[in-house]
Amino acid sequence: MSRFFSPRYSMLEAYTPGEQPKDMKYVKLNTNESPYPPSPLVTAMVEAESKRLNLYSDPESRELTAAVAELYNVGSGNVLMTNGSDEVLNFAFMAFCDDEKGMAFPAVSYGFYPVFAQLNRIPFREIPLRDDFSIDVDDYCGIGMNIVIANPNAPTGLALGLDDIEKIVSSNRDSVVIIDEAYIDFGAQSAVELTKKYDNLLVTQTFSKSRSLAGARLGFGIGSEELINDLNTIKYSTNPYNINRMTSAAGIAAVKDNGYYMANCKKIEATREYMSQELKKMGFAMTDSKSNFLFARSDRIGGEQYYLTLKSMGILVRHFSKPEIDDYVRITVGTREQADILLSATEKILGVN
Ligand code: PMP
Repeated sequence: MSRFFSPRYSMLEAYTPGEQPKDMKYVKLNTNESPYPPSPLVTAMVEAESKRLNLYSDPESRELTAAVAELYNVGSGNVLMTNGSDEVLNFAFMAFCDDEKGMAFPAVSYGFYPVFAQLNRIPFREIPLRDDFSIDVDDYCGIGMNIVIANPNAPTGLALGLDDIEKIVSSNRDSVVIIDEAYIDFGAQSAVELTKKYDNLLVTQTFSKSRSLAGARLGFGIGSEELINDLNTIKYSTNPYNINRMTSAAGIAAVKDNGYYMANCKKIEATREYMSQELKKMGFAMTDSKSNFLFARSDRIGGEQYYLTLKSMGILVRHFSKPEIDDYVRITVGTREQADILLSATEKILGVN
């Protein structure tokens, strides 16, 4: 820390992204990226757009916003496009929270939530999960705080149904409820339709997982025009050109090729089921994940040791040292070939034939 670093941030514990080592070629199953490349239309449109990089991007991202709005059957005024969904989440913490109105979220969830709260000096409450890692919806009903819930949750993969989401939203009409749907395209139900009924609901999604654009940084929020206007006030006060030209072109093309991406999601769901069955045969226990990752543990090897051994064999998965989940690893579901590499390495590690 330099002697100039503001004491305001001296206690800030920054988010730790999944590792991206370059020392060797790994089978990368640690950051929930799609194993499938962007569609050819995406790469062609990005290349064409690269020739216009001398010009600023459209601060309103009009074409992209309209494409996403049409895909989700909402108005353009109900959509804000952002630099990854991390950005819309941070904007929401900034826009809707203050000393009086804090943010509540599950104690085991996306590790960025407490960081956004600390960064913006927002009081927060971490609500424990049940022993089976499920969310007890009653814990969130009428709590008088803003709420952010990842659905499906990360890293557990467990999803809430729409009835439960509606219960939380309708019992907190004076608070903003954010449903973070980063992993929604792998089998859970989206709450986007509910944004038409509830002006306190903000749904966030990303192009990073199901749409193979993690490296382009593209996310969005959907909510009432009033919520979106507030988020725009924050955007125009921080980074008006938050979507660069190439990312915008990539997003527009990805929406046009939606069928390709949704077919990839189905492949990933099939591989998830295959991997989970095979791991169960080897004695692993895991949650019923509706995401593009498995959250698994074995009685025969600790989470950290399994992670480290896989790493030494060239396979990266994610381990979290948080005590409630340190027995577990989170394994991104990649291609069938990647799954087979992981499975045969696991057989070797456990000595299973
Ligand atoms: N929400 C959750 C639950 C996530 O796991 C992630 C990915 N790390 C994000 C949001 C942010 O993803 P991105 O900024 O790439 O859209």
